Amino acid sequence: MRVGSVRVGGDAPIVVQSMTNTDTADVEATVRQVRALARAGSEIVRVTVNTEEAAAAVPHIRERLDAAGCDVPLVGDFHFNGHRLLAANAACAAALAKYRINPGNVGRGAKRDEQFASMIETACRLGKPVRIGVNWGSLDQALLARLMDENARRAQPLEAEAVMREALVTSALDSAARAEELGLPGDAIVISCKVSSVQHLIAVYRDLARRCDYPLHLGLTEAGMGSKGIVASTAAMAVLLQEGIGDTIRVSLTPEPGGDRTREVVVAQEILQTMGLRSFTPMVTACPGCGRTTSTTFQELAAKIQHFLREQMPVWRRDYPGVEDMHVAVMGCVVNGPGESKLANIGISLPGTGEVPVAPVYVDGRKTVTLKGDAIAEEFQAIVAEYVRTNYRRGAPRAQAAGSEARRTPA
Ligand code: SF4
Repeated sequence: MRVGSVRVGGDAPIVVQSMTNTDTADVEATVRQVRALARAGSEIVRVTVNTEEAAAAVPHIRERLDAAGCDVPLVGDFHFNGHRLLAANAACAAALAKYRINPGNVGRGAKRDEQFASMIETACRLGKPVRIGVNWGSLDQALLARLMDENARRAQPLEAEAVMREALVTSALDSAARAEELGLPGDAIVISCKVSSVQHLIAVYRDLARRCDYPLHLGLTEAGMGSKGIVASTAAMAVLLQEGIGDTIRVSLTPEPGGDRTREVVVAQEILQTMGLRSFTPMVTACPGCGRTTSTTFQELAAKIQHFLREQMPVWRRDYPGVEDMHVAVMGCVVNGPGESKLANIGISLPGTGEVPVAPVYVDGRKTVTLKGDAIAEEFQAIVAEYVRTNYRRGAPRAQAAGSEARRTPA
């Protein structure tokens, strides 16, 4: 399927997406954040559409992004009043590239079917894909109660959690089937069933993958803050991605107060890149440091080079195809430094405590220069930039790291 210009599902690369946390009615702030997320590498950005003001802002946000040359597709996240907002705001419905509908928050009783149908009909009329996005925290309570009752009548009832997982999957698949009955093509439907527990997420998505062919949007909901959120998301998604489950991912990190929303995009890219599923930014191999690196020079250079590479990517991606596969090593001492550096496209082995204060640089496995003095970081960056210009310009033979992941020896 296509979400705007982005292919999702089938043999398409796994798509990284994210969501804003601005008030969508604040056009200025939302445009700024969508652009930042897109610059960081988010290929689809979702915005909440929760009020008339938010719905009215969406076409202006789209216009401003287009005017700035940012064509990232916008997805509208609808709950409770989506049927009204989509029906009353034609420009919003048209400006969005996809609608996210949560079957648990569409309405109650008889109104539920009618309101769901109204949104699906808008999607059909405008040719928009839909994500049926079920969430543990807003599960259809009537469906859950029915499945719990049925379970209680079994000779050997399942555990309550298993019934809840079944309710998530059933809610998604029944809603998708209903959307198809209403005329939405099957290839315009994406499914997600998000939960906040790693083991439940794995179980639910394995079940989904067995029971349907819809593209799957993968993510651990409410993953949390900082390292906890990153570890939990990675633990859950890595298992599923390794099994070929998941067509688009979102990492739901809670930013620290004043923190950078784009972190979730970087984490999603790093999950895919470290698993060898996609390449986004040249990889930096850095040793963890130890008692042989008692100064902070090594950490500072590793951080500087990582930042430098990421900063260059918007231009490099355009001008130097394949540069995202480049591999740079920044190592702390002579123990593993030269070996690891030789296996990278470019590597630098810094002097550990007590070693001669020089830093040999290796390019494609060969020592080319030895840096010393206060400007090692700048000189090394210049060498990396020159390497990119020479090896990744259009038509140049593709540069390759001298070593493979399997051949490297961890420090
Ligand atoms: S290469 Fe290994 S031994 Fe040397 S500083 Fe890094 S972690 Fe320590």
